[in-house]
Amino acid sequence: MPAHITPNQLIQLIIPGITAVFALSFAWAWVYDKRLRYLRFLAASFGAFALGSAVRICHLPDEWRANALLSAAFYVLSIQLLAEGVLRRAGLRLRFAAHASMFMLVMGGMYYFSYVASNLLVRIYILNLSAGLLMVFTALRFRKRCRGRTINRILLWVLLIFGASFFIRTPLTVIQPLPHSTAPFAQSMFWVLLQLSLALMGAVLGLVLLAAAMSDVIDRLVLERDLDSLTETLNRRAFERLAGRRVADKRSQPLALIAFDIDNFKSINDRYGHAAGDAVLRQFGAILRGAVREKDVVGRIGGEEFVLLLPGADGKFAYRIAERLRTVLESSRFDEIDATLRVTTSAGIARYRPGEAVAALLARADQLLYAAKRAGRNRVLTELSDQTRDASTLDMA
Ligand code: GH3
Ligand code: MG
Ligand code: MG
Repeated sequence: MPAHITPNQLIQLIIPGITAVFALSFAWAWVYDKRLRYLRFLAASFGAFALGSAVRICHLPDEWRANALLSAAFYVLSIQLLAEGVLRRAGLRLRFAAHASMFMLVMGGMYYFSYVASNLLVRIYILNLSAGLLMVFTALRFRKRCRGRTINRILLWVLLIFGASFFIRTPLTVIQPLPHSTAPFAQSMFWVLLQLSLALMGAVLGLVLLAAAMSDVIDRLVLERDLDSLTETLNRRAFERLAGRRVADKRSQPLALIAFDIDNFKSINDRYGHAAGDAVLRQFGAILRGAVREKDVVGRIGGEEFVLLLPGADGKFAYRIAERLRTVLESSRFDEIDATLRVTTSAGIARYRPGEAVAALLARADQLLYAAKRAGRNRVLTELSDQTRDASTLDMA
């Protein structure tokens, strides 16, 4: 172990220092929102990189082979953790076996070309090519899950450039006449520039990842503000805001709104208790969420009142959807409450009239819903021209 750290080493230590700050930032963001689990991988990745460069700069251990091996192990881990973090953020992952094989393969090569046939050039090749391949592979897999968000597109490009830079780095080392022992090479201007460029790119990648993480944290907060925590459908305010946006969009026309109200819900509460009532609400919320397309808007706007806005749906289409949801609820079992419990819902459907406010559309759907209640519950009522069954209810529209 070296007796003391030289000023030169001190300056070089800025790199692991900055990387460690990134590691702490990701760890802090994870503490802030523990559900964003990919942040742990990013924190560990930047931490591993900081350790790898710190042990190399400080000659820990002093024996060069052991040092090369230890710092390489940290670098490889760092790239693998980075790839895993980026993939997990996109809902993907790499098998542990794939990671383990890659680690063993790279470290096996590093061992061979340090202890058996000492060759610095091959070691540089192994490290850079494996890092470059993994980064480009990660970027390409991530590309499919980008979903057009600006921060994701920036991240994709930074990953690709970062990955490609490892390939460029390798031929650059060939152009340079390399000495076969590490000491003079590690002090050459070329090596320092190589390290600096890697650090710079690492910092850009760190900043972009941090921005992506912050946008994820904000998205979560917005979602929490907008979602009804019991049913995980939109709350009234968020429903009205999103529905307002949909009706203002010409491409959404025609548009239909279904208003649901669970039948005799008060008696479920009275008979089985409030918690059972909540379980019924959760179940109906899940049924609705499971049935909607991405462009549909589903919300819980009252105690046991749900609304479903269907862009691109005419009255008949909306009627079929409402009927299907009504029968799904009717045939649902609530064994944990009471195996004989049957829950039904009534529904009213209104078609959007151009220029109309969401509140007016809702009011018309509500009128039909209450007409359905008066007509005996467990039925769907729609406007006169869309009526496809139950002629006895025509006069109610
Ligand atoms: P109808 O068929 O006419 O719709 O009768 P209903 O009993 O469903 O209608 P009512 O509006 O009288 O009852 C609604 C009940 O919903 C009253 C209220 O206590 C209950 N409720 C409102 N919010 C919640 C909730 O979050 N959880 C539970 N368990 N009950 C709720
Ligand atoms: Mg009700
Ligand atoms: Mg009600």
